[in-house]
Amino acid sequence: MSVAASGAIPLSEYHTLGLVVYTSRLLLPQTEEEVPELATSAQFILGEGSNILPLRDLPPILSTRYLRGYRVLQEDSSSVEVEIAAGENWDAWVRLSLAHGWYGIENLAAIPGTVGAAVVQNIGAYGVELAPFLVRVRGWNKSLEAWQELPAEACRLGYRHSIFQTPEWQDRFIITRVTLRLKKRYEPVLTYPDVLRRIDPARQHDPWHLYETIRAIRAEKLPLWGSAGSFFKNPVLSLSELKRLQQRAPDIPVYPQSDGTFKVPAAWLIDKAGLKAYRIGGAQVHPNQPLVLVNTGQATPQDMWSLAQHVRATVREIWGIELEPEVRAIG
Ligand SMILES: Cc1cc2nc3c(=O)[nH]c(=O)nc-3n(C[C@H](O)[C@H](O)[C@H](O)COP(=O)(O)OP(=O)(O)OC[C@H]3O[C@@H](n4cnc5c(N)ncnc54)[C@H](O)[C@@H]3O)c2cc1C
Repeated sequence: MSVAASGAIPLSEYHTLGLVVYTSRLLLPQTEEEVPELATSAQFILGEGSNILPLRDLPPILSTRYLRGYRVLQEDSSSVEVEIAAGENWDAWVRLSLAHGWYGIENLAAIPGTVGAAVVQNIGAYGVELAPFLVRVRGWNKSLEAWQELPAEACRLGYRHSIFQTPEWQDRFIITRVTLRLKKRYEPVLTYPDVLRRIDPARQHDPWHLYETIRAIRAEKLPLWGSAGSFFKNPVLSLSELKRLQQRAPDIPVYPQSDGTFKVPAAWLIDKAGLKAYRIGGAQVHPNQPLVLVNTGQATPQDMWSLAQHVRATVREIWGIELEPEVRAIG
């Protein structure tokens, strides 16, 4: 049976920034079959709310967090294709894959949120992205009033981006299942200095060791409550844009990309702009992780929004760079 609560329902438990906001209706389908009917009254779609900033009380919301289960579609000696319900918790799924001996996504350990939303922003961490593992998604298209299967190419995954963030698809296509192809051979990606420093060389071939290492690194860095992870994307620049930035910031670390562009760390730009620990009301730039904006306890949506705008304006003024939010402001 679906749970569809009405009234002033507090959303503080339904998003990780923990702001005091309410929704008029919370629609929680327990099965895929319930999605089409409940979706007709929903204006916003959520997973576990770990990448959103609600700006005010919200109209009806549908969360896919209770769509659960998975099944193997096909497998051979080198890989497995597995279909996962969108509401499965991402980190629990990573652990389950390891338990089955299915590999590739270990570096995405401990990223909060659901499997469905992992596709929406093409989650990434420690040198690995979801994109190469995605085979297809299935979901309910509200505009067409039809179930659709989209192959990975149609989802147009890029750096923290997919088609599901565009106006034609956002809140109109409800992802209910995600198919991934995982490997049966463990080939660890150990390119990140943090990971290399922490990994025990004697246990390099143990996937659980990599999983636990990444979990431990993340636990030291980021609070699990009170943030939505990195608030801004790392800017990706053309050569001419990079040269212009380097005139103002000669020391900035630069990561050349395979397509000839250059990624620079937004955290560096924010830190060197003097914004570490900067505060507006209850909202603060994290003192150690300047890319993360935190609710220190009593932040209002307005505090969070004003802080995000202040960071963007300061970075624009000092470095001439426009920061693009990774977190979705809703409402
Ligand atoms: C402490 C912390 C650390 C983080 N670290 C990382 C990191 O290392 N790398 C990274 O990439 N991200 C990171 N994030 C961001 C977040 O974990 C991911 O974006 C995650 O995929 C969001 O999942 P969710 O279920 O909470 O999505 P939500 O926040 O609920 O939704 C995010 C977006 O997806 C849409 N959406 C959700 N479910 C569906 C669905 N079923 N169908 C269609 N649209 C849907 C929503 O409308 C919204 O636009 C971090 C967040 C936190 C709080």
